[in-house]
Order: sequence, then structure tokens, then C-alpha cells
Amino acid sequence: MVQSGAMSGTVTTHRRSAAGRAAVVAFALLAHPGPATSGDKNLVVSGRLVCLGAGLEEISCEESATRLALKGDAGRIHPLAAGDAANTLLQEKRLKTREFRLTLRSLDGGNTYQIVKSQLIRAGTIYDFHYFCEICNITTYAPGPCMCCRAPTEYREAPATP
Ligand SMILES: [Zn+2]
Repeated sequence: MVQSGAMSGTVTTHRRSAAGRAAVVAFALLAHPGPATSGDKNLVVSGRLVCLGAGLEEISCEESATRLALKGDAGRIHPLAAGDAANTLLQEKRLKTREFRLTLRSLDGGNTYQIVKSQLIRAGTIYDFHYFCEICNITTYAPGPCMCCRAPTEYREAPATP
């Protein structure tokens, strides 16, 4: 019952997206007569990373997923913008989890979200994670060689401070 309720809620969200976008735009115009600051639309969502097919349906990540999404604890799907941040969450095995707390920014009224900040959740504990280059003293949030000196970076994680 819970599962079917969550799924029908998702469909409703997609069908309503055009109206929802109009409402968000109208609200933004009322609330911000001038240029809006980007920070005030951020949304913090805890949930599980899922893969989406071409029709934005949830599929196994073993299949050819076209998009990644964060499925919130209430069942709502938040499709993520393609890019390094989303790919890191799927491909980085050292995270050892599919549960995350993401700070998201809506790009287009709720159809796509950009990751502003990502934290992982493992066994109910929230961790900050990043990659560190000791040579340059640089912190990044994507795996791979240091963007400055190309040396290998070190993966680090620590329980998030409340
Ligand atoms: Zn470096």
C-alpha cells in the first residue's frame, strides 16, 4: 500500500509540473521584484538514489539509466541534473551507500535539481565527504586527480556536525 501510494504521488507530480512551474514563477515574481538570490530556493532532501529511464520511470541502475534522481523519504522523486556531482554519487564505491542528504536547487520549477551539497547517510548517520589534495591544500567534491597539480586525491569522510 505504501509503495503504490508513493508511485501514484510521483505520477501526479509529473502531470502537475506545468502548473507547478507557473505557480513557482508567479510566486518568485511576487516575492522577488528584483533579481532573486540563488540561495533561497535550496531544498534539503534525505532519501535514496534511484535511476530513471527515458520516461522518468524508476528502473534498475543496472539497466541503461538516462537520469539519476533522489527519491525522498516521502516518495517524491527529485530528478538530478546530469553532471559530475550526480555521477559521483552513483560511481563512487567508497561511499558504500545509496542514501544521501542532498541540498538541491531547482533549475526549472521542480523538474530538474542541481546538487548544491551532498552528504551521505550510512546506518542512520550523516557524513560529510570530500576529496583532498595535500600538496595544494584543495578540497573538491568529485573524485579523480587534483584539478591543480593532477596528483591523486585522498577520499575523506567525517560525521556531519549538526
Ligand atoms: Zn593538488
